Amino acid sequence: MNADLSPRGRAANLARMRSEAFDLLVVGGGIVGAGIARDAAMRGLKTALVDRGDFASGTSGKTSRLVHGGLRYLKSFKIGLVRQAVRERDRLIRGSPSLVRPLAFTIPTYEGRGMGPLTLRFGLWVYDFLSRDKVLPKRRWLTPAKVGEREPGLGDAGLRGGGLYHDALTNDARLVLAVLRSAAEGGAVVANHAEVIEVLRDGGRVSGARIRDRITQDGFELRASVVVNATGVWLDRLRTKADPAPTLRPTKGIHVFLPRKKVGNREAVVLNARRDGRMLFVLPWGPLTLVGTTDTDFGGDPDRVVPTSDDVAYLLEAVNDAFPDAEVHPSDVVSAYAGLRPLIQEGETTEESDISRKHEIFEDPDGLLSVAGGKLTTHRAMAEEVVDRVCARLGRAIACSTADAGLGPEAATADELRALGIEETAAQFLSSRHPAADVRPWLGKPSAEDRIVPGLPFLWIEVSIAVESEMAQHLEDVMVRRLGLFHESADQGLGVAAAVAERMGTHLGWDATRQESEIGLYRELVADHRTFMEEHAR
Ligand SMILES: Cc1cc2nc3c(=O)[nH]c(=O)nc-3n(C[C@H](O)[C@H](O)[C@H](O)COP(=O)(O)OP(=O)(O)OC[C@H]3O[C@@H](n4cnc5c(N)ncnc54)[C@H](O)[C@@H]3O)c2cc1C
Repeated sequence: MNADLSPRGRAANLARMRSEAFDLLVVGGGIVGAGIARDAAMRGLKTALVDRGDFASGTSGKTSRLVHGGLRYLKSFKIGLVRQAVRERDRLIRGSPSLVRPLAFTIPTYEGRGMGPLTLRFGLWVYDFLSRDKVLPKRRWLTPAKVGEREPGLGDAGLRGGGLYHDALTNDARLVLAVLRSAAEGGAVVANHAEVIEVLRDGGRVSGARIRDRITQDGFELRASVVVNATGVWLDRLRTKADPAPTLRPTKGIHVFLPRKKVGNREAVVLNARRDGRMLFVLPWGPLTLVGTTDTDFGGDPDRVVPTSDDVAYLLEAVNDAFPDAEVHPSDVVSAYAGLRPLIQEGETTEESDISRKHEIFEDPDGLLSVAGGKLTTHRAMAEEVVDRVCARLGRAIACSTADAGLGPEAATADELRALGIEETAAQFLSSRHPAADVRPWLGKPSAEDRIVPGLPFLWIEVSIAVESEMAQHLEDVMVRRLGLFHESADQGLGVAAAVAERMGTHLGWDATRQESEIGLYRELVADHRTFMEEHAR
């Protein structure tokens, strides 16, 4: 089935949600909800999914972008958790080569700090051992001289050598989109900017939800036999459990993008922060370096989570400590973002970093199924478990079929794009993000193949694709999640925001007032994410 994720497709989907009855309603279009909708649709269940914001606008678009087993969890002997994540990582690498790319990590070890060489070598052996498919190169041990050759920017005082191992990197928001597209191709009816205001019940059992379209403000009732609450840190807003204790203990994690030339890393490096021994990642992202993450309890408003100057200072201190010539300052930060981990509450005394990353499914007396925890990497396995429960509830024994199903543009896409006359670099870039069918209609249109910002890979054609094939509804959807100008452009895309809004407006029928209001909202978002700079200056 073809997925129509255009504005017309969205309106048609909402009309179907209003008039038809569904086997399953999934609330939440982060990676977990998307995975559940995909699995259910591929099993033939009549499935609807809504997100009150944009797809991936919650935690799933604010991650470290790693598809990984979680090496650090071996320290606390969470072997089962790591085994599952490693196997899901391998599946994603095999089945989604355009979206999930292997990456080499150097993990140095220093005298009197972090893991010693023996422990690290054993940990890396276990990590390799847990991979059944062996899709990644095997670990290697590096002498201090070899660490220096791979990552010359790293400090060498007390260096005792290091490990070389592989995990994978992805674009988190685009991975969510790919999963949703696959769900829609399987028959799922999906809409973003559509909020569940209230779960509906008949005779005390969940029977659907009241939904508000946040673009038109229309409200309607959707009927579904089963409702799954995959709303991440917002989980308890829809639950009606007797126990008032919160299900989750959200912790906040921030990331910064820095110029890679300034940091000096060549590939990915794993650091141990001197301040608290926490494991941090320094990841290559084109000409930038992504550094993360922090892990601190969060008791504020989950709708407004931004990096503070303390968060940023912690990461910069760790970078400057590991890369002595880097000397990065807050003014070097290209962009920063913050997300909340939807971790399962286990007791107040546990340190933030030690709270388990396992997922859990909750079933309330009214029949509402809720799921939280886990990782971007393990979303498929989580979804399989949830949909098994849904099938049992529906009395339909249908096997899961996502285990070997691929995601994202096919391998031949770059060749197809070249054959359409697109130059090499643009063809490579577009083929990692879009199927050729989405690109074709816009070729030859004014400035389609021009770069939006000189020096950055994003092309004007992608604004049209975002609106017409990826359900982008607001300027923020395009700037932050479809393209990434928010993260990668030195001015966070403010200089081109008006032109992008104008182009979106040609597709969505925006007048000048609407364009201005979209630009205003985007400016506020950027300002919110830059308050750490003012805090630093004070
Ligand atoms: C800092 C950080 C770094 C991380 N790094 C990694 C990593 O590198 N690799 C990895 O594998 N994992 C990583 N994780 C973990 C991973 O990101 C999360 O486990 C995962 O994204 C959670 O997805 P989710 O779908 O449960 O939640 P979310 O992505 O938050 O999705 C929930 C969705 O529900 C929607 N919603 C809420 N209420 C309603 C409503 N009433 N109606 C409709 N929709 C609603 C929200 O808008 C939201 O989009 C990281 C997490 C954090 C915080």
